[in-house]
Amino acid sequence: MTAMLNIKDLRSYYGQVQALHGLSFALNEGSLTTLLGANGAGKTTTLRAICNMVRSTGAIEFDGSSLMGRSTESIVRLGIAHVPQGRGTFTSLTVEENLQLGAISRRDRAGIIADIERMYGYFPVLKERYTQQAGTLSGGEQQMLAVARALMLKPRLMLLDEPSFGLAPLIVRDLFKILGRINREEKVTILVVEQNAQLALELADQAHVIETGRIVMSAARRRSPTTRTSASPIWVTRSAGTWSFSPTKSWPASRPARSTPAWRSPWS
Ligand code: ATP
Repeated sequence: MTAMLNIKDLRSYYGQVQALHGLSFALNEGSLTTLLGANGAGKTTTLRAICNMVRSTGAIEFDGSSLMGRSTESIVRLGIAHVPQGRGTFTSLTVEENLQLGAISRRDRAGIIADIERMYGYFPVLKERYTQQAGTLSGGEQQMLAVARALMLKPRLMLLDEPSFGLAPLIVRDLFKILGRINREEKVTILVVEQNAQLALELADQAHVIETGRIVMSAARRRSPTTRTSASPIWVTRSAGTWSFSPTKSWPASRPARSTPAWRSPWS
């Protein structure tokens, strides 16, 4: 696999407050990567920095071209869709109008109609509710709509900020299954920020843990290049309030730059 997104020595600032302190990682094309970390670690800021929504220095390259200094709109046009925390649907518009708006930069009318139907295939509940105002949908339905709307852009890379936030466990599990399908079937590379570490790691090929604006632990597993399936998930173990990755021998794990033995969980 080739690196689609390369982030090097990323430092991001909110006014005088520095949120990222030299963060580096790469995303392989076709991968599903999760960013884990405690509250305030810098996960959301990393996604914002990729979309140039926060002042940053360092290097962010997408397909070998720098994203630094580009407008957020031009980054979206390169094929990077961002589903922010809090979902970001247009609450006064209907489900179908939201999907149409997701395709606003596209001109292929027939393709847009076909893609709306495809989204209804992934999320049948949205089809049942296509005339309903987005603001009256349940939290899970709104999250599904936010993901479907982002997919209407035909992105190559989708950035998802805590899609499980506020959702019931069964709905989260369904949503993650669909994200896995989108990654495999639509070949969309996915970077997902999650608090639900266990579930995210069941699905992910790569995982990075962020602590105070730096990557402190990374693990990856290999998938078959043909079937894109893998026998086992990345395991995390938890003992005495501490999570740690336990990759098997075939999963290269790295622990760059820090000697912290394990990452202390905010959920303990
Ligand atoms: P959470 O899981 O709670 O969403 P996070 O890992 O996504 O946390 P960020 O939202 O990226 O963390 O925040 C990283 C740091 O930047 C925190 O210290 C936070 O207080 C600070 N920060 C975030 N947004 C702003 C802002 N708009 N102004 C000032 N500081 C901010």
